[in-house]
Amino acid sequence: MGGRLLLFPLPFQGHINPMLQLASILYSKGFNITIIHTFCNSPNKSNYPHFAFEAISEETLTASPTMQGSVTNVVLLNKVCFDPFRDCVKRLLSNASADEPILCLITDALLYFTQAVADLLMLPRLVLRTSSLSAFHVLRLHPVLLQKGYLSEDSHSDAPVPEAQPLKVKDISRTYKIEGEDLAEIISGMVMGIKASSGIIWNTFVELEQPVLNTIQQNFPIPSFTIGPFHKYFTASASSLLEQDRTAISWLDMQAPLSVLYVSFGSVAAIDKSEFFEMAWGLANSKQKFLWVVRPGVIRGSEWLEPFPPGLQEAVSERGHIIKWAPQQEVLAHPATACFWSHCGWNSTLESVCEGVPMICSPSFGDQPTNARCVETVWKVGLVLENGFEREEIERAIRRVMIDQEGKEMKMRMSCLKEKVNLCLMEGGSSYKSLEDLVSFILSF
Ligand code: UDP
Repeated sequence: MGGRLLLFPLPFQGHINPMLQLASILYSKGFNITIIHTFCNSPNKSNYPHFAFEAISEETLTASPTMQGSVTNVVLLNKVCFDPFRDCVKRLLSNASADEPILCLITDALLYFTQAVADLLMLPRLVLRTSSLSAFHVLRLHPVLLQKGYLSEDSHSDAPVPEAQPLKVKDISRTYKIEGEDLAEIISGMVMGIKASSGIIWNTFVELEQPVLNTIQQNFPIPSFTIGPFHKYFTASASSLLEQDRTAISWLDMQAPLSVLYVSFGSVAAIDKSEFFEMAWGLANSKQKFLWVVRPGVIRGSEWLEPFPPGLQEAVSERGHIIKWAPQQEVLAHPATACFWSHCGWNSTLESVCEGVPMICSPSFGDQPTNARCVETVWKVGLVLENGFEREEIERAIRRVMIDQEGKEMKMRMSCLKEKVNLCLMEGGSSYKSLEDLVSFILSF
């Protein structure tokens, strides 16, 4: 078919995975792919021999081979990458041959500075938004919620927010504030960048979020392509920045069907030491088997595992297997896995939906509180821990989802969603058709 696409992911795990998956999907449709990337958190090129890679060199970033996902770093990337990114795209354009033209840029929505580069070089830009539609809808309501006073104080109220359903008032400050950092700047940059773009690609499927899609299309009158879930085409393993511990699978192989709780809070979220101990006691007291990802750095101020207080180590090791990083998709697809206790990052949430695994939700910031409320109140396939990390509530939640009748009902509803995922990807399904539309759209540039 010919034609080359330039893709630029935000260099954090939860954003690299969907962008590299999208690259593989578009490659399978006949496009040639160039991944533009920063030196920090650069993708593993050997897993993608069929792609070209271009590193942009920027001194502030090249100093550090790894970079934590944070609001500060998103703002920084949008400032320091402009010149090297522009120079890189300019060079690629001038070297492109007539039989393989560069058709467009596809960049992460949070790399909003790239719209100015696209305009400057007169190259169409498509945006990849890696969150759910629902979370994007809530994020973009920031000015309205600010004006109505929802952000003026830390409220612990359980009252609903009519403007931002299905959130509760207490979810609002969590959504917009990350340990003193303010998301306002990147939300407005992202929204303006999307409005000026040629179209937006979503890692979701229509059947999951139809009403929100309609609202977003009214507010963003650019083409929207809902072609997900991406990981059903290509897994996230190839783009993992950390080594995946395969003992997770051999340990699961020894467990009974639907008997294990999988626990992981993704690549960015962090907890305090006291919260970690509450988690450990809750897990141990639930008397269920658990596979627990304790990512190095997840406990603030610790390298890896804190020394457990007396008695806790024994209680945990009796029923649990602790690892640093899991082959998550395989874990969720394993017959032994019954429930996923998650921070509700969008990739994790979608991966759980696709495997029909009910969830316990401990959202931290950004899109996570909205994803968690969708799990609990819209799709009714899990529950949210309302009081943070408290051992009794944790123990109760685990038993509700893994043992009680309401957990069985959650499992049934999750299995229905899993079915819908399979249908939307089949010929004639919503994501299948949207992908065909996207391919035609790109070829029209
Ligand atoms: N992941 C993994 N192993 C783990 C934990 C997470 O491979 O032990 C992957 C997971 O499958 C997902 C990504 O890391 O694709 C995390 O993305 P998500 O959006 O859920 O959360 P974030 O890390 O962006 O907060």
